[in-house]
Amino acid sequence: MGQLSLKNVVKTFGDFEVVKGVSLDVHEGEFVVFVGPSGCGKSTLLRMVAGLEHTTSGDIVIDGKRVNDLAPVKRGIAMVFQSYALYPHMSVYENIAFPLRVEGAPAKEIRKKVEEAAAILHLENRLDQRPGNLSGGQRQRVAIGRAIVRQPEIFLFDEPLSNLDAALRADMRIELTRLHKQLGATMVYVTHDQVEAMTMADRIVVLNGGYIAQVGAPLTLYHKPENTFVAGFIGNPR
Ligand code: ADP
Ligand code: MG
Repeated sequence: MGQLSLKNVVKTFGDFEVVKGVSLDVHEGEFVVFVGPSGCGKSTLLRMVAGLEHTTSGDIVIDGKRVNDLAPVKRGIAMVFQSYALYPHMSVYENIAFPLRVEGAPAKEIRKKVEEAAAILHLENRLDQRPGNLSGGQRQRVAIGRAIVRQPEIFLFDEPLSNLDAALRADMRIELTRLHKQLGATMVYVTHDQVEAMTMADRIVVLNGGYIAQVGAPLTLYHKPENTFVAGFIGNPR
């Protein structure tokens, strides 16, 4: 469970082709990072996987099933955004519980799942507080908690650390790697930050202008960039 395939996925906005035929198999439990400059189509691609954006052509396949026409909540995925959009008037507990309340889960089950997520994210002592009283890193953890309680097979992250300062980003990179190991879920992570890609990914997908420029393990891309774009972006040009 948690296998994702993109098959010649295309997205156009009017006449503008933003994603130009992306194909990739993401394995169960893999941490794949899409990296590329601003505007190269990362968010659009992720939003198609999430079902937040219609796919113009091509197939999105999760665990062998084509999901193009499946509602977002039925895809077994949860997405974490850059702007974590917490509810300011709700406690941390209620923010994390929110997706379960929407689903109509029983109170006992909600409590169990929220407490589990809070333990994983070191938020046990913050559950009664409002988001406004938390640090940026803690807020981003609450947003991740909201994804965890849904127990998705696949997590999608869209630049979740870009609102944090450098020190916090470094901490959160380690936290996210730990979270991936602990949950064993598939993670698809989008960023324009090469350091995040190099330190967290099992495999990196370099996107350039809607195309895949190269796919490979971090060190492979670093030492053996296949083209000048990859070399310039993360490679080691000589
Ligand atoms: P990235 O996340 O890599 O920065 P995006 O996927 O957000 O890139 O955007 C890729 C391109 O598609 C950009 O040129 C952007 O302006 C354009 N784009 C994104 N969403 C829309 C939309 N709803 N309508 C028209 N153009 C869009
Ligand atoms: Mg984006």
